[in-house]
Amino acid sequence: MNCPQCEQPLGERPLLETPVAFCDVCKGWWFEPQDVKALSRYWKDFPDASGFTPKKSREALSSCPRCGIPLLGYYHPAYNTVVKVEKCKRCGGAWLDDNEVRRLTVYRENTGRDRRPVKAETPAARYLKKTATFAIVAAAAIILMVTLFIYLVKSGAFN
Ligand SMILES: [Zn+2]
Ligand SMILES: [Zn+2]
Repeated sequence: MNCPQCEQPLGERPLLETPVAFCDVCKGWWFEPQDVKALSRYWKDFPDASGFTPKKSREALSSCPRCGIPLLGYYHPAYNTVVKVEKCKRCGGAWLDDNEVRRLTVYRENTGRDRRPVKAETPAARYLKKTATFAIVAAAAIILMVTLFIYLVKSGAFN
């Protein structure tokens, strides 16, 4: 099997304990469908590119080394245009540059997940936040009133 980008024969390299086809010339990774599946343990939305944005540009993409048809480009949801995954819609294989793979690995190591966290606020948390805001506003109002009162007493307003 040859590299979809530079047509050189692909070698192999381990990635997250999975041997993956790698091009030593252009430093790209070709993920066979079974590799894509194995890697889903690490990058949940990687295999089917769900959550990825389809690439709109008309820039020519590489062809699948297995099927020979043009690959489809997708952008990673967290990295947007920086990480582009090229996928074959026929065999399910995927092509990524080495720096893209590295970014995904770093991203996962930093966050432990593939997507930016969605803030889920429980009703209790919302109630607490509201109560705390109210308490702060009330305390500020009381302090202001006491200060004003002391000022008025001192200035002899009540004499
Ligand atoms: Zn190559
Ligand atoms: Zn293919």
